Amino acid sequence: MAKELIVSAIENGTVIDHIPTKSVFQVIKILNLENVENQILFGINLESKKYGKKGIIKVRNRFFESSDINKISLAAPKATLIVIKDFQVIEKSTVEIPDTIEGIVKCFNPNCITNVQNVDTKFKVISKDKIVLQCHYCEKNTVEKNIVFK
Ligand SMILES: [Zn+2]
Repeated sequence: MAKELIVSAIENGTVIDHIPTKSVFQVIKILNLENVENQILFGINLESKKYGKKGIIKVRNRFFESSDINKISLAAPKATLIVIKDFQVIEKSTVEIPDTIEGIVKCFNPNCITNVQNVDTKFKVISKDKIVLQCHYCEKNTVEKNIVFK
């Protein structure tokens, strides 16, 4: 329960738990949480039995849609999403990397049509363990370390 002392409970909203510490700021950025009015609490380098150190983000009065959850899954594939209403856990789920990704990520190939013209990206997820995204247009692979969120 130590984490509750560090990051206090929220009445309504979503808790994103089990984020790798190094990905907390990335998750904040890709969900555009820097620019919302909601109250946001986060912690990094918290103790976790499962993962050693972890990060957590709590967003008051916000419930994420599947496009947001897809973004979270790419930045923090083992994250847990906990939906809180009236201080009660309503739903707890592990994020899942979808089979296809539309938008969200840039194609690694600078000559790809999606980087040259106003065409939205589309990828087939060919590996979820170490993330590999294959571009629908140029068929080049974008691997985990090269992922740039749009
Ligand atoms: Zn491409």
